[in-house]
Amino acid sequence: MPRTSPLTRDEVRVDYWFHVLTAPADAFVEINGKFVVPDSLAADLLAQLNREREARIEWFHENPPPDVMLTAMREAGLWPPRPSRPPQTVLAHWDTWLNWDYCRFCFKHFVQLEVSRRPLHFCSDKCHDRHTRERWQVYNDQRGQERAATRANLVCEQCGDPLTTRRSHTRYCSDRCKKAARRRRLHAAI
Ligand SMILES: [Zn+2]
Ligand SMILES: [Zn+2]
Repeated sequence: MPRTSPLTRDEVRVDYWFHVLTAPADAFVEINGKFVVPDSLAADLLAQLNREREARIEWFHENPPPDVMLTAMREAGLWPPRPSRPPQTVLAHWDTWLNWDYCRFCFKHFVQLEVSRRPLHFCSDKCHDRHTRERWQVYNDQRGQERAATRANLVCEQCGDPLTTRRSHTRYCSDRCKKAARRRRLHAAI
């Protein structure tokens, strides 16, 4: 059964300039020995990515670097900002076999469109983000627990009541104590 639903942004990986780097394997059909994602599946996504690219270029023009940098960037050919390649009009590959891979997060098959790049391992930016988040989750949980433990032992420096704050650098239980402490410091200074 050939695929009929158009590609979505969540199914692909893109580079900095919104060029598509991966596409789901089930979106390709073979035409004269070349593997192509039909226009009916790719056109909407490519149009959306074109708009995002334009928006990024526009953003650069609205937020240029300081003049001193701008001169140097002009000389180095880095200004005005330019996408690394022309916009894609078709998603195709001569040899899907060599660039066929499975997603290390969701295990779906995908095709990597850029032969020269290192393997991407994930079918989409979404899966890559989710993988990264889970990878750091252990570390984040641990850090959260350490902070909670620190907070549990904190008391107000003015009145000695335990602090209920979520932040570990808070020193006083209330504005009242904060002001009282400041008065005390001023008094001590005189
Ligand atoms: Zn995936
Ligand atoms: Zn207090």
